[in-house]
Amino acid sequence: MPNHVTVIGAGIVGAATAVELLRDGHTVTIVEPGDPGGEQAASYGNGTLLNPSSVIPMSSPGLWKKVPGYLADPLGPLAIRWGYMPRLLPWLLRFIRAGWTVAKVEATARALAPLIADAPDLHRALAEEAGVADLIRRSGVLFVFPSRADFEAEATSWRIRRDNGTRWIELTENELRQREPGLARRYTFAILVEANAQCIDPGALVAALVRHAQALGATLRRARVTGLRIEGQKLHAVRTDAGDIACDKAVIAAGAWSKALATAAGDAVPLETERGYHALIQDPGIELRLPVMPSDGKMAHVMTPQGLRLAGQVELAGLDAAPNWKRAEILRDFALHTWPGLPRDLPADRVKFWMGHRPSTPDGLPCIGPASGCADVVYAFGHGHIGLTAGPATAKLVADLIAGRTPRVDPAPYTARRFR
Ligand SMILES: Cc1cc2nc3c(=O)[nH]c(=O)nc-3n(C[C@H](O)[C@H](O)[C@H](O)COP(=O)(O)OP(=O)(O)OC[C@H]3O[C@@H](n4cnc5c(N)ncnc54)[C@H](O)[C@@H]3O)c2cc1C
Repeated sequence: MPNHVTVIGAGIVGAATAVELLRDGHTVTIVEPGDPGGEQAASYGNGTLLNPSSVIPMSSPGLWKKVPGYLADPLGPLAIRWGYMPRLLPWLLRFIRAGWTVAKVEATARALAPLIADAPDLHRALAEEAGVADLIRRSGVLFVFPSRADFEAEATSWRIRRDNGTRWIELTENELRQREPGLARRYTFAILVEANAQCIDPGALVAALVRHAQALGATLRRARVTGLRIEGQKLHAVRTDAGDIACDKAVIAAGAWSKALATAAGDAVPLETERGYHALIQDPGIELRLPVMPSDGKMAHVMTPQGLRLAGQVELAGLDAAPNWKRAEILRDFALHTWPGLPRDLPADRVKFWMGHRPSTPDGLPCIGPASGCADVVYAFGHGHIGLTAGPATAKLVADLIAGRTPRVDPAPYTARRFR
């Protein structure tokens, strides 16, 4: 039975979900306060990678031992604003517990794999449908290491990736030089994951998907959702700052801002923002042949139509704190040290900084599925570091659940009830 479904949020998850719902014949309203594909969303400024290999959650055994070192290093990949610690602590404890043993990491990887295994294919099909197929590049991704020993230090993670289908080619120093001649000499070993891919302009993809949804009949409402009108466990309307929208179903796809809406639908979800940054070097004067992940930088170096994008960093400081652009300068400076061909005297107006909010649960799994307080409300948020990759599969799963079809992916690991 077709329904009127309101999709809350137009990042990659909301935009892809709207398209899948339209395919099933539903009437769809998308509610988004910003421009679809705009800078407010994590989906705009991320690392652009569509990596089926990204099954390893951020929390891993022994991480707690490394955290003090990361925090003490002003150039490190992790920062916490100490004033935010009292609010953060419960999430942080759950986060550390979630990756306490290898068995827990293996279980998370197994749960994530079906959401991202065919991401390049699903992205390509969606992008093609929306008329922007050229945004998806099946280039493979190069993971570069100072030495083979640095790769071997991550052996457990790579073993778990392999158990979940990742295959790679090892490159010697010479082969690496041939593949990526502009890379600094300190890297002497690399692996190439050919099945990984890139969306070269994720903001443009989201904008195109929303335009495509509108062409298929969706309505875009520029408003912020403020609550849900649920009576007797039935959804009557989505409340917005521009009035109520009467509907039968709602999908909460508001990324890092989904927590209050989930609370209104009956689930206290421990959702945090892992703030991340990018630095964009316009006219960099060099061209990377492949997306590159330097193991010692915990960041992505990728070409986009706007220039060389360096994306990474995790800053735990909440949704409201002002950006700390030093975190983005770290990314820029690391790149200067990694690509000797970049101009040393980069004028400030050639470098653009961006900050965005990864919607992160402590266990690294998203929340997808019906709300506890009202089955008319379906969750589609909490994708943390892999939301661009997992967007299309999440959208198909949500559409299956709303249609009452047997879902193509088992939704059990993503239930919000796991946090009770
Ligand atoms: C630095 C960085 C690098 C990353 N690299 C990668 C990568 O390489 N690959 C990958 O797969 N993932 C990556 N990610 C993660 C990925 O970007 C996110 O997981 C993903 O974009 C989340 O998509 P979303 O649609 O859930 O949320 P968002 O893209 O944040 O969209 C949520 C939307 O909801 C809207 N909204 C908020 N509140 C409301 C409301 N009350 N009512 C209506 N609308 C609302 C917002 O305006 C926003 O447009 C990265 C993230 C960052 C920050």
